[in-house]
Amino acid sequence: MSQKFIPLSVPNLKGKELEYVTQAIETEWVSTGGPYINDFESKIASYVKSKGAVSCQNGTAGLHIALDVCEVTSKDEVIVPTLTFIAAVNPVKYIGAEPIFMDCDDSLNMDSTKLREFCEDQCTFFEGKLINNLTKKHIKAIVVVHVFGNMADMEAIMDIAKKYNLKVIEDATEAIGTYYLSGNYKGRFAGTIGDMGVYSFNGNKIMTTGGGGMIVSNNLDYLDRAKHLSTQAKSDELYYTHDEIGYNYRMTNLQAALGLAQIEKLEDFIQTKKENYEFYKEKFEEIPGLKMMNFKENIRPNYWFYALYIEDDYSINRDQVIKYLASKKVQSRPIWGLISEQKPYAGSQVHKIEKAKEYLNHIVNIPCSSNLSKEDAEYVVQCFKRPEVI
Ligand SMILES: *Cc1c(COP(=O)(O)O)cnc(C)c1O
Repeated sequence: MSQKFIPLSVPNLKGKELEYVTQAIETEWVSTGGPYINDFESKIASYVKSKGAVSCQNGTAGLHIALDVCEVTSKDEVIVPTLTFIAAVNPVKYIGAEPIFMDCDDSLNMDSTKLREFCEDQCTFFEGKLINNLTKKHIKAIVVVHVFGNMADMEAIMDIAKKYNLKVIEDATEAIGTYYLSGNYKGRFAGTIGDMGVYSFNGNKIMTTGGGGMIVSNNLDYLDRAKHLSTQAKSDELYYTHDEIGYNYRMTNLQAALGLAQIEKLEDFIQTKKENYEFYKEKFEEIPGLKMMNFKENIRPNYWFYALYIEDDYSINRDQVIKYLASKKVQSRPIWGLISEQKPYAGSQVHKIEKAKEYLNHIVNIPCSSNLSKEDAEYVVQCFKRPEVI
């Protein structure tokens, strides 16, 4: 029998998805009204223990709204990571603001030491505002990404943000379910520590609504504003009066139906991903030149994406690994190209990007779906034992 294709990360829809979506269709509530949307918002809010949640079309739209709610304007600058998916940064440009790119640390998340250094050495804190010495512009916010379901160093980042009066928007699009086990933020979920947090339910994320997103916050005024802006900024339902420019960003009842079935399974997905992660980790320890990147010890991660570090002494390099795996019907990919090196960001300010470059050249993401079987994981490991240059 020929080997079946093993994808990187695909949806797992074996729960009540069909039942709930069928109900949405039978009741004819398929658009941005309908009971599932509010229901899904409350389920997410109670799962992550936030004061509320506002659904949206996708994570990118959620980040756009969050920046707007945090009053980032076209005059401002926002500190962002360079090692991430571009959707974490594009919304800064939608607003007309400018990003400043920060390096990652050894957890692949924003380097909080470099962040602190940058604020201290390259900026001036004056009348409650952090001013960039280079551009004289006001740095108003930080977008922190919790990479692959790990947790960025929120203790340090929140401390820096308080000191310099910066808003913190958590791009927790990859990290729903991740929370602190100890420290100041013990029990707090990724996305609920900063001013606002955003989750994504894209098809490749740990839970999916096809496409979809959710904004969370513990500030009820922010949530009200997020809802207002995401629903065309309508101030009167009957007469259709609008007090500002809004967006058509609300989730549909169909998407929410899927989401309700998925949230019921989220803890199971995390459990499976944990088991597969631990399996890979143990097996790759026996193969010289390979190392699974760790999740932090003081958190319960959601184990969304697995990052395998290909050391220089492994027999083939990153690109050869990807090609070889493809020939064996195993999908893999290099970690994202740095955002500061993408064409639209060529002129943007960067601060000491070093580690991100190294990790970019060594990391490969390997199959991690929540329906990946033990046999599939074993097959992936076997492929790494006899690598060939293709
Ligand atoms: C997936 C993702 C997004 C965007 O979410 P969408 O729902 O696809 O718009 C943003 N940032 C990061 C880091 C992501 O991984």
